[in-house]
Amino acid sequence: MEEITALAKRRGFIFQSSEIYGGIGGFFDYGPLGALLKRNVKDAWWREMVELRDDVVGFDSSIIMHPNTWIASGHVAAFHDKLVDCRNCKHRFRADHLATLEKCPDCGMSGTLTEPRNFNLMMKTAIGPMEDSASQAYLRPETAQGIFVNFKNIYQSARKRPPFGIAQIGKSFRNEITPGNFTFRVREFEQAELEYFVPDDGNDMPVYEAWVAARKQWYSDYGVRAERLRFYELPPQERPHYARAGTDVEYLFPWGWGELESIAHRGTYDLEAHMQLSGKDLMFFDEASKSKYTPILIESSAGMDRTTLTMLIDAYEHETIAADDGKISQRVVLRFHPRIAPVQVAVFPLARNKPDLVERAQNIEKALRPRFRTQYDEGNVGQLYRRQDEIGTPCCIMVDFQSVDDGAVTVRDRDSMKQDRVAQDQLASYLAQRLSG
Ligand code: ATP
Repeated sequence: MEEITALAKRRGFIFQSSEIYGGIGGFFDYGPLGALLKRNVKDAWWREMVELRDDVVGFDSSIIMHPNTWIASGHVAAFHDKLVDCRNCKHRFRADHLATLEKCPDCGMSGTLTEPRNFNLMMKTAIGPMEDSASQAYLRPETAQGIFVNFKNIYQSARKRPPFGIAQIGKSFRNEITPGNFTFRVREFEQAELEYFVPDDGNDMPVYEAWVAARKQWYSDYGVRAERLRFYELPPQERPHYARAGTDVEYLFPWGWGELESIAHRGTYDLEAHMQLSGKDLMFFDEASKSKYTPILIESSAGMDRTTLTMLIDAYEHETIAADDGKISQRVVLRFHPRIAPVQVAVFPLARNKPDLVERAQNIEKALRPRFRTQYDEGNVGQLYRRQDEIGTPCCIMVDFQSVDDGAVTVRDRDSMKQDRVAQDQLASYLAQRLSG
């Protein structure tokens, strides 16, 4: 993990937030490559969950909502973690992360931990110039509630009827007691949530199961190693009382299994809670039968920062390679799926002091740019390849002296390191095929 954190900083994937002021716990910034990687992960989710389906519509709600939202959802009353302090070393813990309350895991003293007390995880802010209780609001701790309170606006304007879904990607905030494990547990993060509404006609469990299968397929399509992924079916005692089924998608991080996503059958709980407090009707009115009902909800809630971190960790490999002449060397390579790799194609001239080669390489990069995420670079050939391997670029194009004569270039594959000679006019179709994943 230390190697990955160092690489993330060195190559510009992830930086600590406000580093020049000593950082701030639980917040991170994405550098140029990290911003691209995260955007590609979000686009991959959006493409699959919204664009390629005719039964899901997109949505984007505000981060700050009416405070009653969080009363109805149960977050004001119950979005707590149990907080424990050590009176000796002053460290804080989440009670459910401790094996025992007898002994502090950090300083080892016995009898110094306080009784667990409730700590609400919602971040507060104030609206307008007066900071009194009337102006108090919350930064949303999840994006889903924006969808629920807009259910009627959306199904009416989009002319949708259950079964159909509403998807949203956006920032959420939680005042985590113990942020940590790099970007795994942070206080500001992005969620990708799908709320899928189905009629209460007895077909809800097959729909839930189909969503679990669809999400499994998504992780597999993007190459997440099957042996590091598990789908944990929650037994009834681990689910909220209203949930009829639930599955946690977990990844085997260097520190152990951690949740990436939760998929849940939530019954009619959420819409009913908002109808009760707002007094507004959020039932679905079926024009055909002139009847109305509260649809059942199947939810998939995935963390985009955790998924991006997973892609980074899963792609990381430190390998020893033997050259044809028997020389042994080491390389670090990120084996990103080509569709999420920040850079897909890098183009170099064999020598940077040969204007012919430089110009040709620059023109190739420019010509490929509208179709692929490209980068032009120049310098020592070995170092160029090493840098592109470290940022996970699937294809590198080398323009050499022969290229000037025969109009062909060398394309090197990141994973096998095999090189193909490809005619310049065939390059775009060759790359399209190689990068389609
Ligand atoms: P945990 O048990 O790890 O605190 P949770 O069960 O509270 O997570 P959910 O409320 O189910 O999480 O949120 C859905 C998803 O949002 C999680 O699976 C995770 O990917 C993401 N998520 C939740 N909290 C955080 C956080 N503090 N930092 C990063 N991602 C988070």
